[in-house]
This record gives sequence, structure tokens and C-alpha cells, in this order.
Amino acid sequence: MESIGADLEEMKRQPLEREEVDAIAAIAELRDYAAGETVAEVGDPMDRFVYVLTGEIELVDPYTQQRMIESSLGPTQFAGELAFLNAGAHTVPLRAARPTRTLEAPRAAMLELMARRPRLADHVIGVFAARRRQLFEDHRSSIKLIGADRDARIQAVGRFLDRNRIPYESFDLDDPEGEGIHLCQLADHAPAVIFAEGMILDDPTPRAVARLLGLDLNVCERAEVDLLIVGGGPAGVAAAVYAGAEGLDALVVEDSAIGGQAGSSSRIENYMGFPTGISGADLAFRGQVQAMKFGTRFVMPRRVAAVARTEDERFCARLEEDDEEICAPAVLVATGVQYRRLPLPRLRALEGKGVYYAATEMEARFCAGQPVLVVGGGNSAGQAAMFLARHADCVKLIVREEALAETMSSYLRERLEADPAIEIHLASEVSALHGERRLEAVTVRHEGDERREPCGGLFIMIGAAPNTGWLSGLVDLDAEGFVITGEEAGAGSAYETSCPGVYAVGDVRAGSVKRVASAVGEGSVVVSAIWRHVARCHERRGEAPPGQRED
Ligand SMILES: Cc1cc2nc3c(=O)[nH]c(=O)nc-3n(C[C@H](O)[C@H](O)[C@H](O)COP(=O)(O)OP(=O)(O)OC[C@H]3O[C@@H](n4cnc5c(N)ncnc54)[C@H](O)[C@@H]3O)c2cc1C
Repeated sequence: MESIGADLEEMKRQPLEREEVDAIAAIAELRDYAAGETVAEVGDPMDRFVYVLTGEIELVDPYTQQRMIESSLGPTQFAGELAFLNAGAHTVPLRAARPTRTLEAPRAAMLELMARRPRLADHVIGVFAARRRQLFEDHRSSIKLIGADRDARIQAVGRFLDRNRIPYESFDLDDPEGEGIHLCQLADHAPAVIFAEGMILDDPTPRAVARLLGLDLNVCERAEVDLLIVGGGPAGVAAAVYAGAEGLDALVVEDSAIGGQAGSSSRIENYMGFPTGISGADLAFRGQVQAMKFGTRFVMPRRVAAVARTEDERFCARLEEDDEEICAPAVLVATGVQYRRLPLPRLRALEGKGVYYAATEMEARFCAGQPVLVVGGGNSAGQAAMFLARHADCVKLIVREEALAETMSSYLRERLEADPAIEIHLASEVSALHGERRLEAVTVRHEGDERREPCGGLFIMIGAAPNTGWLSGLVDLDAEGFVITGEEAGAGSAYETSCPGVYAVGDVRAGSVKRVASAVGEGSVVVSAIWRHVARCHERRGEAPPGQRED
């Protein structure tokens, strides 16, 4: 993980300033714990900031009830981690190791205090981020996935956790070793997600895991916000940062994982400021933490199914599954695009079992040492081939066109051509998939000839269509379904749609440049027009404008 946090081991331990502790004391309660008393259990909401005055708090392994790591929290230290910012839940139990006295401040009051005191905010967030990094680097977590080697549902949970930068440990069902043997017994030798001894999810889906982690809407205090951002890709996350910084009460609803398409890119090399590249998931995670610091909330994995305008000129979005509604005077459409599928029999049955649409560390692990095929001639296919070549036995890039020149950036083309682990097959296509429980081989057609090839992973990267079905006819779309904005839509500002109060940015917008930098740029720029719109709505209702604006 190219981390947002410093290395905890190397971080200079610096207590909070006296006046900062006094400010926390002014909003906090004193609590006393006896030795051995629980401070927080797995699944408890991180609804208070816990500062240790005297005594000692330890992190507990929820499977053995023993101390989980050697170091503990002593006087002048505080508990918590990044999930605190988003009203998440504890994933590691906390226990008083001896008689302990704490200051405990409610989360909302603590966030308000941090907003007023940037030095305090930087200190707290710096420590939280370093702790998340340490959990990642130590591969230590109380969340255990059993059976990702063969179960598509567990793989989906793994992808969700990976892409949302939530640490977990994964154990194979077929061949468990060490700790895995006990965990497989706990799970009755079936694929499972376990949070603690006796805390096994009946329905291991990303949503069920998100609910336990406090990432779903059920922990969201309000269903009424200033700005509803639909989509948590680079465009939505950038808007989330600027909206929070400008004092808008904003909420991001994301269908799968923060980062969008960029989140599935293992290395983005053309984003300013990262000369050696950065993974899309890390870039988005940094943005998410920044946005949370400014008070923007994220809800996932939830899909907006429809949106409608109300009589009082607000918009209400309905979420899939539970029909919950979120209403706001402004909506930002940042839903990007989704991958196209190949028209092949049994494709859906093999998705997640050898057929993939993203090339991340997890998929690479499943294909290690095997031959893989990447289908597509664009930059995403090229990047995936480069990345997979480091893990797979060999990579074949299957391109329908007769040349790569028109579809791929020249730097990438040159690297692919120079890599001995990659073969480029032009004028070729995959015409059949083989394998019962998982993909074993594919048929590749070239100029009328067909040949069967062994295949441990088929990566389909053949472009995408806009995610605009949920807009329910509210705004004008172009012939391909992209959202029309600005002058062409008869709107008053560049990213406004034909429906005043609804804005669109990033890949979903007609005519946008399909790149991370442009999505981030549009998501940042659009916020000033949204702020003006929301301020007018507030004014009509006799309310104060949102936050304080700095021009
Ligand atoms: C593998 C890959 C590699 C890439 N590499 C690069 C690169 O190196 N450099 C570069 O500049 N660009 C790269 N790109 C392109 C870049 O990632 C996109 O241009 C960028 O992500 C667009 O951002 P976005 O926020 O507009 O949309 P997206 O990234 O598509 O994000 C949209 C988000 O909206 C969510 N969503 C959709 N519908 C709904 C709904 N109804 N309710 C809730 N949420 C919803 C989706 O789940 C998604 O997370 C790459 C793309 C891919 C796929």
C-alpha cells in the first residue's frame, strides 16, 4: 500500500498539546474502567473519541481473547483509527489492561473540534492513518475470509475490502494451514466471513460486511443533505473533498467501492504529483480520508436506483434494495461508466471464477504462475497486461483490431512490445470459454482459425457504457447515454445539466476526457456552482448559507 499514513514504528511519539487536551476535556466525559473491563467490542460504533488519562488500554485478539499486539495505549495516547471519521465500527476489541481513566468525547463534537483546530485534526488523522497502514503491513486483522480460493461471494467481499482499504486475512478452504485450520473448523469447512469467535456472517456479501463495519446507510444520521454525490470514483471523491471544504453538508453514495474504475488500476502513471505512479485505490483512499476530515460522509455499497424532483425543488434519490431515500437541493452525477461484457455463453457463470474485469493484487494471486489472456486494445487492457506479466506464467493480449496504434498510448505500446512475458495477438478474438467450476481454457479465433488455449484468468477490458439508467429521464442524455451539460444542455454553468440543481462530472459526462485528472478537475471545479445553487435554496427557505466561503 502506498500509504496515506506514516510508519507508526518510526513516527515520533508526540503527545497532544495541553490546551488541546483541555479542549477535548470540555466536550468529554470522564470514564473509569476496572482492569479487564471491555472498552469496545467488535461491531460497536466508533461513536466516541477515547483519550487515556491514566492506566492502559490493550487491543484484544477476538479469537483468543489474548493481547493482539505487544504495544498498548498509555497516558496521553488515544484510541481509534480512520473508521472513526466515517462513523465506522470497531473491528478490534479494546480492553483496559489495568485500572484506567479516560476522557471520552462524542464523535460529532470531536469532529467539530477538529474542524476548528487544524493542528489537532492533522495530529489525530496522522495517527489514525499510520495505524491503518500498520494493520495493512502486518497483514493483521480480526476480519477473516475463508474460501476465497473457490467461492465467488467471498471473492466479492475480498474485492470490496481491498478496494476500500480495509485490512483482512484470507485463508484457503482447500488447503488450510496453521491458524486457517481452526478458522475453517469455526466456519464448518464452508466459505465464510468471520469477525470474531462466534461472529460468523450468515450471508457473506459486501453489503452485510459493510453493515457490520458501519459503512452502510443505517448508521447515517440524516437522509437530508445539501449535496448528494452519486458515485465515488475520482470525480465524486474530488467533489466530496471540495464540498466538505466549502462547508456543504455532502453525502457520497457508492455502489461498490471508492475509486471507481481508477480503483481497479494498479498503477496510474499520468497523474500529476506521482512521478513513479500511484495505484488508483490509494489515490482515491487519500481523497476519501481528506473528504471525511472535512465532514463528508460515504455510504457503500449502495446503489441509487432512481431520482425524482419534488414540488419544493429538491431531489430525492431512492436506494436499491431497501427503498431508503436521500433528499437534497443539489445532486452531482458522478457515476462514470461500466465495463462491457463479451457475448459468450457461460460468461456470467464464470465471472469471478477465472473471468475478471479488473486486474488487482487479488486476481493476480488467483492466476499466479498460470497463462492468462487480456482482451482489449485500450490503455486499461495494456496496463492490466503489464501488471499481470509480473505474476502470471505468460500474458497474451488479444486485440480485435489489426494494430494498437489508434487505441493505446504510445508509451504503453512500446513497453508491451518490449516485455518478453507478453505476446500481442492482433486481429484475434475469444470465441468460447471452457471449464465447469472455474475457467480452464478459452478458444481464440484468428482469421477463421480456432485454437484452444489453457487459461488461468481471462481479463476482459473492452470499453464501457455510461451509468445513467438511474437518472429516470430527469436530464438530457446524448445518443450513447452520456449526460449533456453546460451550454448544450441550456444550463447556466459548465457542468450543470438540463435540470437545474443536477450537475454531472467525469466519465459519465458527454464530451469528457476519460482520464483521472480530468475527472478530479471537473469534480473540484463544479463545487462552486453547486455552492451558489444550494445557498440560493437555503436563502429561499430563510436559512443561512452553507459554511463560510473563501474565494
Ligand atoms: C483498469 C483501468 C485503468 C485506468 N488507468 C488510467 C490511467 O492510468 N490514467 C488515467 O488518467 N485514467 C485511467 N483510467 C480511466 C479513469 O480511471 C477514469 O477516467 C476515471 O476513473 C473516471 O472517473 P469517474 O469518477 O468519472 O468515474 P468512475 O471511475 O467510473 O466512477 C464511477 C463510480 O460510480 C459508481 N456508480 C455507478 N452507478 C451508480 C449508482 N447508480 N449508484 C451509486 N454509485 C454508482 C461506480 O460504482 C463507480 O465507483 C483507467 C481506467 C481503468 C478501468
